[in-house]
Amino acid sequence: MSNVETKPAELRCGGAVDGEQPAGTARVDVLTPRAVPLGGPRAMTVRRTLPQRARTLIGAWCFADHYGPDDVSVTGGMNVAPHPHTGLQTVSWLFTGEIEHRDSMGNHALVRPGELNLMTGGYGISHSEVSTPRTTVLHGVQLWVALPQEHRSTGRDFQHYAPEPVLTDGAETRVFLGSLAGSVSPVTTFTPLLGAEILLRPRATLTLAVDPDFEHGLLVDQGEVRLAGTSVGASELGYLPPGLDTLTLTNQSDGIARTVLLGGTPFEEEIVMWWNFIGRSHEDIAKAREDWQNSSDRFGAVEGYPGDRLPAPALPNAVITPRRNPPRH
Ligand code: MN
Repeated sequence: MSNVETKPAELRCGGAVDGEQPAGTARVDVLTPRAVPLGGPRAMTVRRTLPQRARTLIGAWCFADHYGPDDVSVTGGMNVAPHPHTGLQTVSWLFTGEIEHRDSMGNHALVRPGELNLMTGGYGISHSEVSTPRTTVLHGVQLWVALPQEHRSTGRDFQHYAPEPVLTDGAETRVFLGSLAGSVSPVTTFTPLLGAEILLRPRATLTLAVDPDFEHGLLVDQGEVRLAGTSVGASELGYLPPGLDTLTLTNQSDGIARTVLLGGTPFEEEIVMWWNFIGRSHEDIAKAREDWQNSSDRFGAVEGYPGDRLPAPALPNAVITPRRNPPRH
């Protein structure tokens, strides 16, 4: 997916930016999303929980868009023209619907519910994403992972993985990145990461062993879930700092609750994010933008998309620095 804001801010993320919470405290920060239209005449809207002022990263997870369930006859579905990425991996995970992915490595893949599609755009890649004609309801998440300095110019890559669901304690868990509940994803990442979809039966409680070095974010898609004693409502993201060796989730609703659990070791580097690029400086971003606008080989070409590629928005004059000291609890 592309960040299609017409005037995207340049954000400095990570490093000392995010609020510090004492390790091991089980206090949950509940992050609420903001609505971002995906552009076009019948704009589909996504709910963005990362990055935001209060928190820019969870592990290397640096971007979280959540959408649907949308009736595509009303929203027009997803039609994101070829656009570039640098310094990050895109994670596509659907609950309902189907998306056709084309990229500048020549991959032409279908993104389907319960199947991970992870694209690595280190030095540069481009891709398009279009919901297929047979899709009536579109519902899922698009997540980005920041690449560490050592690997941020790595080559293009695309991986697909359909995890077997793990059934335990009234829960159904699909681990698409990292390991949880005895399930290990074979997909390679460049920092320690966790990504899993967890479905909870009505009123079910699930306790999961987790890596105490990880911080976690629980995105609730539907239902209301108590996480470490705090209620996290639909479309909210509950954040927990490192230091916990278990997480307990309780579905407080009478329907199935669907959640996505993200985790990772805190990302220590400061990164600069703008539009679809991650760099380490404004100059990195300006160069990537210039290379895209000049159709440089850096991003390659997407074959088979019926239409023009997305032009980059104008660069902002200033880097926006999030507050360095959000209120402590
Ligand atoms: Mn994209």
